[in-house]
Amino acid sequence: MKTIVFVSELAKDIQSQWLNLIQKQLINETILLPHQISESQGLHIDIAIVANPDPKELARFPNLVWIQSLWAGVENLVNMATKKPVKLVKLVDPQLAKTMAESVLAWTLYLQRNMPEYTQQQVIKQWRPLASIMSEDLRVSVLGTGSLGIAALNTLKKLGYQLSCWSRRPKQLSGIKHYSGLSDLKVMLSKTDILINLLPLTQDTYHLLNTELLLKLPKGSKLINFSRGAIIDNKALLNLLESRHISHAVLDVFEHEPLATDDPIWTHPNITVLPHISAPTSMLSAVKVVASNIINYRENNIIPDSVDVKQGY
Ligand code: NAP
Repeated sequence: MKTIVFVSELAKDIQSQWLNLIQKQLINETILLPHQISESQGLHIDIAIVANPDPKELARFPNLVWIQSLWAGVENLVNMATKKPVKLVKLVDPQLAKTMAESVLAWTLYLQRNMPEYTQQQVIKQWRPLASIMSEDLRVSVLGTGSLGIAALNTLKKLGYQLSCWSRRPKQLSGIKHYSGLSDLKVMLSKTDILINLLPLTQDTYHLLNTELLLKLPKGSKLINFSRGAIIDNKALLNLLESRHISHAVLDVFEHEPLATDDPIWTHPNITVLPHISAPTSMLSAVKVVASNIINYRENNIIPDSVDVKQGY
């Protein structure tokens, strides 16, 4: 029987739910919390499963070979793990990608079909039909073509939008225009009606969407941010919403969460605020992915593709 450590700063009841589910899937392993493991026992532990871990607790296990995150976003873990030769594995869960793709579709339609405007019109009892753009004429661009970006693009494709996407490395995607590099990004933005952000937060993407880049979007364009708040410079965004250069933003993620009650974003008429719900992790599905990764490692010594700590994702 091998032991795996579960390190998290989750609330106790949530932590127990994860522990129970993981233990049920991994019957040949014992899953323990750090305080249940002695110092000498800790030296033999090769795998940690983590969710918002305290770095000090992780440091108690100096011989970890890999760390499996229960989340898809690993920006905090990357900063923790740079000093150790340990592989970091993020959650890659098809169910999570499907949920994100559904959210992207829902909120793209929300913007395409003028739902924010109709909500405002109803408040003032205004009966005013608005023009809406046909899907075939709407230019939708996705930042990031990872597991979530690709799932979103494939879902949007079914509605016939004019799709573009941007990622670090060049790619060929059938029926979708792909861009990479900063100058390409500017070109893509200039041909975008709805921009969807699904990039990870890294040193390179922090405040990437600043005034200069957001101004490349055509006047009246719309924005959806579903990955991390700090990728957008919110001051720049607020200014561009004020000048109506950007007509509406759907924001699910913020640099500081939860959003402070006195933040002007809450009451901005052209911002839709969501409480980080675009793709909640499904415990059952995530646990199955994690268990299968661990079984594959024990049986075949294969660790799933790991995070490139230098790139930060
Ligand atoms: P992923 O598979 O790691 O994909 C990341 C994508 O971003 C890749 O296409 C990558 O390019 C691109 N990229 C990274 N840095 C870049 C840069 N500097 N310039 C251009 N492109 C860059 O990530 P994922 O699983 O799709 O998840 C994306 C993010 O979604 C996560 O990091 C997390 O923050 C967020 N998320 C949010 C929620 C929510 O509920 N709101 C839920 C889950 C995840 P290459 O393809 O060239 O490598």
